[in-house]
Amino acid sequence: MDFNYHTHTYHCHHASGTPEEYVKRALENGITEMGFSDHFPFDFGDGYHNSARIPIGEVSTYLEEVHYLKEKYAGRIKIRLGFEMEYYTELFPEMKQKAIEYGAEYLLLGEHYCAPENAPDARPHCSLKTDDGEFLSFYADRVIEGMRTGAFTYVAHPDVFNFVGDGALFAEAAERISRASVETGIPLEINFLGIRDSRNYPNPLFWRIASRVGAPVTFGFDAHTVDSAYDGASLTIAKQMVENLGLNYIGKPVLRKLS
Ligand SMILES: [Zn+2]
Ligand SMILES: [Zn+2]
Repeated sequence: MDFNYHTHTYHCHHASGTPEEYVKRALENGITEMGFSDHFPFDFGDGYHNSARIPIGEVSTYLEEVHYLKEKYAGRIKIRLGFEMEYYTELFPEMKQKAIEYGAEYLLLGEHYCAPENAPDARPHCSLKTDDGEFLSFYADRVIEGMRTGAFTYVAHPDVFNFVGDGALFAEAAERISRASVETGIPLEINFLGIRDSRNYPNPLFWRIASRVGAPVTFGFDAHTVDSAYDGASLTIAKQMVENLGLNYIGKPVLRKLS
């Protein structure tokens, strides 16, 4: 694996390490193309700030640092500027426009919430356990709608939704997401943070279905610490998953330009 488009830095305040430290670690381990994908900063207009996102006042530093590194390491490693972003039906046009203004080269769809998280009746984070089938279906709908915009390079941790209810409902959601992936050509990511941290994802049921449907699959380190800018141990496990399940692993995804 010589690519990784899923990297966080100290700018999103739940990860550590400077962008340059991540670049050095990646370079030392044979990565030839890497992307920074800190959580998209967004001004919801009511003073609300989600502490997991880059603060608005810090975006310019994030952009400057990535641009500086692009030049400094040119010819040795290709560095890309991106963001991990939720798909919020109503806000997406505005969010995408902002990303274009920031000069983003790509977006990862990371649906941690399914609707603006500042709303008084906001739904909980998707990684919290729930047996709410309606919420699961709403999640799948949002991910599919997001894929159909054509703006996202891939879906980060498509199996983040921590469903503990009827397995048949989870299978149905996984099948719908996998079919949309085939239809749009947008890959689904096996997320290495989930492997490293033994989270609820990668979810074997999800990936069995993705395999049956033939969805394109890619890998992402989802680095939150410098050492995970290359994560060989999780890579071994992910490769085994691909082999054991017969997944349609496509390697490096094609970056989707924003327009
Ligand atoms: Zn994420
Ligand atoms: Zn991430």
